[in-house]
Amino acid sequence: MASYDYDLFVIGAGSGGVRASRVAAAHGARVAVAEEYRVGGTCVIRGCVPKKLLVYGAHFAEDLQDARRFGWEVPDCRFDWPTLRDNVLSEVDRLNGLYENTLNNNNVEIVRERATVAGPHEVLLASGRTVTADKILIATGAWPTIPDCPGAELGITSNEVFHLEALPRRIVIAGAGYIANEFAGIFHEFGSQVTLINRSDQILRGYDEQIRDRLLQISMAKGIEFRFNAAFQKVEKAADGSLLVHVTGCDPIPCDVLLYAIGRTPHTSGLGLENAGVELNERGAVKVDEHSRSSCDSIFAVGDVTDRVQLTPVAIREGQAFADTQFGGKPTTVDYGCIPSAVFSHPPLAGVGLTEAQARNKFGNAKIYTSDFRPMKNVLANRNERALYKMIVHPENGKVLGLHMIGPDAPEILQAAAVAVKAGLTKQAFDETVALHPSMSEELVLMK
Ligand code: NDP
Repeated sequence: MASYDYDLFVIGAGSGGVRASRVAAAHGARVAVAEEYRVGGTCVIRGCVPKKLLVYGAHFAEDLQDARRFGWEVPDCRFDWPTLRDNVLSEVDRLNGLYENTLNNNNVEIVRERATVAGPHEVLLASGRTVTADKILIATGAWPTIPDCPGAELGITSNEVFHLEALPRRIVIAGAGYIANEFAGIFHEFGSQVTLINRSDQILRGYDEQIRDRLLQISMAKGIEFRFNAAFQKVEKAADGSLLVHVTGCDPIPCDVLLYAIGRTPHTSGLGLENAGVELNERGAVKVDEHSRSSCDSIFAVGDVTDRVQLTPVAIREGQAFADTQFGGKPTTVDYGCIPSAVFSHPPLAGVGLTEAQARNKFGNAKIYTSDFRPMKNVLANRNERALYKMIVHPENGKVLGLHMIGPDAPEILQAAAVAVKAGLTKQAFDETVALHPSMSEELVLMK
């Protein structure tokens, strides 16, 4: 048997790569992981975690306003971006350290340089050193897509947004997906004037239409501006440093920051995958089978670089399944059914299972139950925002096929309810559960 420097060499220490490295090492494998930037990857360093902390920070704008109706004397408050930014970045540093400790404690060697594939069992490091491994795992994630138009380099992406020197007075956000809606809410709450531009006439493709519409209505009522069917033409910089964004169908939009949130492209370019015959799909993602094996027998890939489902918990499951299968003697595949997801907009929305349109397509029909209500806290706060919960039920057997909601704490509520949907429970099982009163989640068992 050939002898290699490592049993496993992982390229990329993000959510998927770290989980795979640590579990493979725990199974007894000799593991190294290469990371050219910081251990933790997109989620921890420049994604889910710092974003969620900004969402918490932004929400105080509403809480401070509402507090007055609950009897609190709130003096005029001022938001200080550098304080929040620096505190969030310190927390990211702390988590980065924890991730490194996890790898060290599990005897995973961290190689702090760029690595590329030189052959089926060979990795070339930026320093010029070549190492060999029985198996190579590609876990390089995805990278923000930049539009192709003159002046595009004047905009920033979610990689840079956490480091802004100052809060923009006016921000244009390109795209209408997860990142765009989350940052639209964040910057609006901080007091920036937000304009969201999208190439199509809808937001959050893939989410249930009624829920998306509710977010659009609430966002517009708050003062977030939307420009639809707006394709990029060019971006210009004015003498005062501000930007002018030219899109089709409307006047040029002036702003201080232009943030691109138009999707993320699998991070495979320049990785040398052609040296091992690893096939990519039309989006540049590594093509893999159900065990995350690429077209090269010794090379595997997990997470966003495979473009299956671009979500952290999915990458973690793929990393775990890979390590258990290849090094733990426990062949495991990931179940992609009923994956819950959320958008941390203001208010947040969340969903699991089929949307109404998907259910009607699949079964020809579906029973729909909704609860459209104004949360008790919003009523007392004089906040005219209604929550909407929607249940999609199989037309014959009564099974809950999907659950979608928008309103305060929707992601927290949906995670628990997703267990019932995943388990295939029926609407009747929800109805038989006594309501927990008074709560918003009780609406789940009272839907008509
Ligand atoms: P999304 O895929 O969510 O949305 C992309 C948006 O950009 C859509 O509105 C799309 O328009 C538009 N778009 C796509 N391509 C182009 C293009 N070439 N030119 C102009 N517009 C374009 O991407 P995000 O960047 O918001 O997020 C990337 C991924 O990160 C998400 O898919 C998600 O999986 C993950 N993520 C998850 C989060 C969470 O779980 N809460 C938070 C943030 C990110 P249209 O749909 O109209 O075609």
